Amino acid sequence: MIFKTMVRKEKEQKSSYVEKDSAIVDGIDISGHWNKMYQPREIMNYDVTPLEDLRALPGAESIGNCYQCAQCIGVCPIDNVGDYGPRKIYRKLQMGMNLLESVDLWQCTTCMNCLRVCPKEVNMIDIMPAAREKAILDGKEVPAELQEMFQNCAEYGNPMGESPRKRARWAKKADVEVKDLSKNPEPVDVLWFVGDYYAYHGRGNDAAQAMARVLTKLGVNFGTLGAEERCDGDSQRLAGEKGLYEMLAEHNIEKFNSLDFKKMVVSGPHAYNAIKNEYPKMGGTYDVDHYTQFLSAMMDKLKPLMTKEFGKKVTFHDPCYLGRHNGEYEAPRTLLNAIPGIQFSEMFRNKEQGYCCGGGGGGMWLDGFMADNINERLSENRVKEAIAVGAEVLAVCCPYEVSRFEDAVKSTGNEGKLEVLDIIEIIDRCIEE
Ligand code: SF4
Ligand code: SF4
Repeated sequence: MIFKTMVRKEKEQKSSYVEKDSAIVDGIDISGHWNKMYQPREIMNYDVTPLEDLRALPGAESIGNCYQCAQCIGVCPIDNVGDYGPRKIYRKLQMGMNLLESVDLWQCTTCMNCLRVCPKEVNMIDIMPAAREKAILDGKEVPAELQEMFQNCAEYGNPMGESPRKRARWAKKADVEVKDLSKNPEPVDVLWFVGDYYAYHGRGNDAAQAMARVLTKLGVNFGTLGAEERCDGDSQRLAGEKGLYEMLAEHNIEKFNSLDFKKMVVSGPHAYNAIKNEYPKMGGTYDVDHYTQFLSAMMDKLKPLMTKEFGKKVTFHDPCYLGRHNGEYEAPRTLLNAIPGIQFSEMFRNKEQGYCCGGGGGGMWLDGFMADNINERLSENRVKEAIAVGAEVLAVCCPYEVSRFEDAVKSTGNEGKLEVLDIIEIIDRCIEE
């Protein structure tokens, strides 16, 4: 609807053209209709107040840098399945669109692929949270799914709205001891930040239990925050709820600081990004690894444990917040290439150019909203790519992704053809009991 409005406006403003009744060119009389000349800069007629207002928000200044080269459009995963991207947003802003009231505000997954190629450093990773925060503060319409997630995090400390008391239940079925430091705060070498989807989601529980077994086999002295852990808050920050992010981060930092540990290991790239890059701004600085980094640095111990063959064709999906945002592409591949019997192949879009699953920047909770704005879910597009390279297994290392891709396997009619597994599950399957 917004696009139609814009087209109408553009047509109206194109009335500022000049026609000569008669123009002779190379002896040919060109009638008025064919010699139509537009006034030099009809764009000056547009109201650019919304663009200027957006540029005035702290963090959103770089939107004004865009010079319309369109490098971003070819790499934006949303444009791949819809009509989006920084260049298009900038153009709409020039033509009077108020981003704070537009559906465009909520579609960006903050995947960072546009920033990777933008010659003018138009930074959607800062622009979108700034604009979303302003929209929330101004009482603009926020997609209902996102509002529900914010509410759940505020009340229960996790997006699912589950009781904090249930957070550590997964550990009962891990068949190994998982120290709950909230009950017994003894010193440990590794504090494992488990994360919401590992703790509460059924398939996440499988990965959490696998992780506990692998760490135990490796002889790692580890513990968790148990029921005291809260959502890392990074997705809430990127979705514009900075106050909620700060509340969650403050809680986690206070708990971290009350414990005695040498290193922190996190299950998910979003928690990794928060704890590595954002928590230090709030006074919480820790030595933190994503689990693939931690395990890939222990290959001399891990490799001899993996004695069972996993003779399947496997491909790997790079999480945006481990790869592009934090530059880690090799650790997951080091682990995968060490799996006995694995037949590993890359998808066309990999590493720096990896495709987004659609879950970042709040997208994890916007599937219904996005269905109204794009032709195909990003996770469905990715599943088709995995099938196209002949994979039997799509390996992931982000807790959001197992559920996203398993849904996409079903909705694309590929059930039974492609299994979605966390890398830690594959490792666990290769270790003799
Ligand atoms: S790549 Fe950067 S400068 Fe070029 S159109 Fe996109 S946002 Fe604008
Ligand atoms: S961050 Fe990703 S989703 Fe957002 S505009 Fe850039 S390329 Fe598109």
